[in-house]
Amino acid sequence: MLIWGSGGDVVQLGNAGEAHCAICEKDRPFKNILSYRYAHLWYLFSWVTEKTYATVCDVCGRGTRHDSKQFEEKLGKSPIPFYRRFGGLVLLGLIAVAIVFGIVASNQSNARETTLIAQPQVGDLYVVDLEKLVPGGFDGHAYGVMRVASINGQQISLQVPNVGYSKLTGASRDLSSKARDESYYVAEQIQLPISQLQQLHGSGEIHDVSRN
Ligand SMILES: [Zn+2]
Repeated sequence: MLIWGSGGDVVQLGNAGEAHCAICEKDRPFKNILSYRYAHLWYLFSWVTEKTYATVCDVCGRGTRHDSKQFEEKLGKSPIPFYRRFGGLVLLGLIAVAIVFGIVASNQSNARETTLIAQPQVGDLYVVDLEKLVPGGFDGHAYGVMRVASINGQQISLQVPNVGYSKLTGASRDLSSKARDESYYVAEQIQLPISQLQQLHGSGEIHDVSRN
């Protein structure tokens, strides 16, 4: 669940001496402050959305604003805690790492499938888009598992399943269980050359390849 929100804080930056306050119409002690707001995700990952450095009257709180960049240069460092300023970047970093790992894993899996399809074996299971391989056989769009029944040179015979799924996950689930059983398939088989299987894999119609 996404939990998000915002908050704010005022940081006291010390006395700024005595001066005439136009609002109080008196000499007053002044102080430097920083007031800022931040947004957060899950309280942990946050970033600053707004900040104001000012010198204000200790009594009425009114005063003059400063240019943030110049004032921070004078201070030498930002008074806002590190996690409030850069927590959001940490989250972006984590997301980037997850995406890179996902891409690497997916590339490795794809390279393995390419090899399996180039050298098929009897019993190999393919998760396919049935509408592409058995047009009209499944009442429209469906995913299913097909099994290599026999190989004759460059020609492959594939068994047709007796069940199709509207979602890919349905077919993937059968890979390690039901799809290994003979009763999962109808008598009908289709013949394809290996080159066409490779094409179908390249264009994404064969989603997964499994070999025991
Ligand atoms: Zn004042």
